Amino acid sequence: MYLDLDRTPAGRSELDVAGTVALGLGEGFAPEATISGELTLQNLESRVLASGTLQASGMAECARCLSAFAMRWDVPVELMVLRDPHSNETEGDTLLILQRDGEVDLAESLRESAALAYPQMTICRDECRGLCASCGADLNDGPCGCVEEPVDPRWEGLP
Ligand SMILES: [Zn+2]
Ligand SMILES: [Zn+2]
Repeated sequence: MYLDLDRTPAGRSELDVAGTVALGLGEGFAPEATISGELTLQNLESRVLASGTLQASGMAECARCLSAFAMRWDVPVELMVLRDPHSNETEGDTLLILQRDGEVDLAESLRESAALAYPQMTICRDECRGLCASCGADLNDGPCGCVEEPVDPRWEGLP
């Protein structure tokens, strides 16, 4: 996942991105993300802006049923390569990389973007039934046989 400053044409162009980064988010999170997609480059000579939405995928743990599943999520990317290594410019939320020429390694910036965009709720599928609170059985495999709690009569008849 490199951006070659010496070969990026002036003006607008596209950059194909494909690679895997270690997310480093800790337990319960996907350990790594495979990132792919296309970024739009704006090469203004003194700076190159790379932006777009990439796709990430990784093995995550379902928050309901605790099974591992392949999760996909979108990764918005906005980063700027400033070709003045002594710049102290800041650009809001845009990730800045200072490098004059040669190949820019995008891995750390893309790791940061993928980690920021990591979904808050990781659910294997919308209709996941999760685990039984009493016996821990995976309810996706069918009813576990536990007796359901009787409905509190005070709530009956409410819409
Ligand atoms: Zn699940
Ligand atoms: Zn049960």
